[in-house]
Amino acid sequence: MIHVDAERCIGCGSCVPTCPLRDFFLEGDKARLVEPDKFVCIDCGHCVSVCPTDAVSMDGDTSVPIPPETGVFAQDLARLMMTRRSVRDFEPEPVSREDLMQALEVARYAPTARNLQEIMWLCLSDPGELKAVADLTAGWLLDNPASAHVGRAYFAGEDRVLRGAPTLLLCHAPEENLLSPQDCGAAISYLELLLHARGIGATWAGYVINAARQVPALRERLGLEPGRAVYGGLMLGYSRETYRRIPGRKPVRIVWK
Ligand code: SF4
Repeated sequence: MIHVDAERCIGCGSCVPTCPLRDFFLEGDKARLVEPDKFVCIDCGHCVSVCPTDAVSMDGDTSVPIPPETGVFAQDLARLMMTRRSVRDFEPEPVSREDLMQALEVARYAPTARNLQEIMWLCLSDPGELKAVADLTAGWLLDNPASAHVGRAYFAGEDRVLRGAPTLLLCHAPEENLLSPQDCGAAISYLELLLHARGIGATWAGYVINAARQVPALRERLGLEPGRAVYGGLMLGYSRETYRRIPGRKPVRIVWK
């Protein structure tokens, strides 16, 4: 539930247009909430974030002030994004829970459709669990003409499924939400950049993601609840690779109208 402290409100009106569901309006020089039958809040927090006088609060509000910019924010972010690479050469030890949790605590701020925040994570670092997942995935690949060679290579001793990653992190969400793939994709992208900033290498676990949606035995092995599906995943480990240059990319293709 949203609360507006009339004493603090200065009537700037910022909360009115920022609310995606138009729950606010101005009456005189004070912000008001629409009638309960028209009030449809998704707890996005835009109103809390935009208010200059801290007049808006939500039940269970855990908001904190935005730290001041350092002045190099945009350049650092661009550098981080442009130097991210898919890492497939890892140190043998799993990524520590502490390192992962620090990144996940930030990645949970990735946007989700209607602010539902339904994403859950599953982290595997037990070698037996990783092998079981890789075995099931490789077995499924054998039945797919386009990727059977990956399965054959795996059973011949060349792990192109998990690339020897000591940690596998999967992201799952409700199947009934049509935007779960986008929600998980955004969260994974946030997370990958945060991990990159900490020297943790990652590659999208594409084979496992697809197999987890199509192989019942793999779903069972992962312990997925009915109605949930894997839409994102990363093979992870402390990177053994050092990159020195930023390879080119195709130019932006865009139509302006
Ligand atoms: Fe009042 Fe804050 Fe809304 Fe401005 S943003 S109108 S101060 S509640």
